[in-house]
Amino acid sequence: MSRNIIYLDYQATTPCDRRVFDEMAPYFCEEYGNPHSTHAMGLRAKEAIETARSKVADIIGAADPKEIIFTSGATESNNLAIQGIARSYREKGDRIITSAIEHKCVLEASAALKREGFDVVRVPVLENGIVDLQELEKAINDRTILVSIMTVNNEIGTIQPIDEISEICKRKGALFHTDAAQAVGKIKVDASKVDLMSVSGHKIYGPKGIGALYVRMNPRVKLTPIFFGGGQERGARSGTLPTPLCVGFGKACEIAKQEMAEESAKLTKFKDYFLKKIFDNLTKVYLNGDAVRRIPGCVNLSFEGVEGESIMLGMPEVCVSSGSACTSESLQPSYVIEAIATREELAHSSLRIGFGRFTTFEEVDYFASKLIEVVNRLRDMSPLWA
Ligand SMILES: *Cc1c(COP(=O)(O)O)cnc(C)c1O
Repeated sequence: MSRNIIYLDYQATTPCDRRVFDEMAPYFCEEYGNPHSTHAMGLRAKEAIETARSKVADIIGAADPKEIIFTSGATESNNLAIQGIARSYREKGDRIITSAIEHKCVLEASAALKREGFDVVRVPVLENGIVDLQELEKAINDRTILVSIMTVNNEIGTIQPIDEISEICKRKGALFHTDAAQAVGKIKVDASKVDLMSVSGHKIYGPKGIGALYVRMNPRVKLTPIFFGGGQERGARSGTLPTPLCVGFGKACEIAKQEMAEESAKLTKFKDYFLKKIFDNLTKVYLNGDAVRRIPGCVNLSFEGVEGESIMLGMPEVCVSSGSACTSESLQPSYVIEAIATREELAHSSLRIGFGRFTTFEEVDYFASKLIEVVNRLRDMSPLWA
């Protein structure tokens, strides 16, 4: 890795794949037509965008590329899904259900609706970070319009039982949205199980500033826009589409689909090696989130007796995260770890480690050794530890 930095924070963002960048490049200075113009330059840009749209549709198993609405990222997609559904189905009901460990943008978008009078319910998760399905089922009443539960959690990497949640929502007549920003390209996702799905470009080696919302057409899901203007994206999201970003996002989806199996196998080997080395050399380390139902590239550990932040300070050349990127500046413990932690202090001692496409075995091995050294040093210094 460049500049002697070891980047192990693939949940916060991923580097743009060089192949993605190369595919995007012509759309900045040469193929610059407005994709919504009807002249030759516009049509060429539009064609590139439609090709990209098909690639996004393909990786999530959407029946029709028209079901893909390009947005600026998963934050916008989640806001559009939650706010848009709430406004469209207001006469049907007022209950919106999410979980305690959703991404901030889902929690905040639904909190905004709560201030407008919607009945927002957050269902708890079990100690393994999996949504409590019994609580979910109980929470869905006949005034429930939307359930929003993420496919893969960005802090602990746990995979939610999407098929079961889908079945519960169908049976109870609620729409189901999933934030799949951390799932696409890592596990197989299936749009046919949900009504809406959010995706982000920069989590899958594409550019930042682009994402998509899948909106089911059959049966049709009604979505009130949050941006108004020229009526682009079938009226759901006005604004000129950023051709280079769309093209890059499409390419990123294409590569991710092709290389997913191989990448997942590599990351599983890295994760297993890493965890063995840590558990063989350190005591009182706990893996956060379900041990099996998880993606291999996200490992979240709590180290009893040391703070995650102190570990990070002890190895400035390594980029990992304590708390998520959105909350780590506040030095608050992660609300995700708090929601699953059996002991409060373990929430402060968590570290999120993300392996990805460009991670090498040497980096994993070096990092494991360094981590063991730093944790031992911090524990030796702590009067509480002895
Ligand atoms: C990164 C992330 C988001 C936000 O995506 P942006 O494209 O950065 O807006 C939302 N949800 C999850 C689970 C994420 O990991």
